[in-house]
Amino acid sequence: MPPLPLILCPECNAGNTLWFVSGTVENPGRHFYECEWHELGGCRFWKWENNYIVLQHLLGSSTLARIRVSA
Ligand SMILES: [Zn+2]
Repeated sequence: MPPLPLILCPECNAGNTLWFVSGTVENPGRHFYECEWHELGGCRFWKWENNYIVLQHLLGSSTLARIRVSA
């Protein structure tokens, strides 16, 4: 389970954010969140976990109501 809620992507409003754990040498084990369309080139959204927390505070509680639950 991701440590933070996954939300509707605030950049494209078409996909959900997904949770990842970095495997790079620079940031091993660091959590980040990325739009599900990012790897397909459809969206630029991704954030480190600390920035994602800030984003969720900025978006406010209304964001939680917009969470889509994937089947
Ligand atoms: Zn997106």
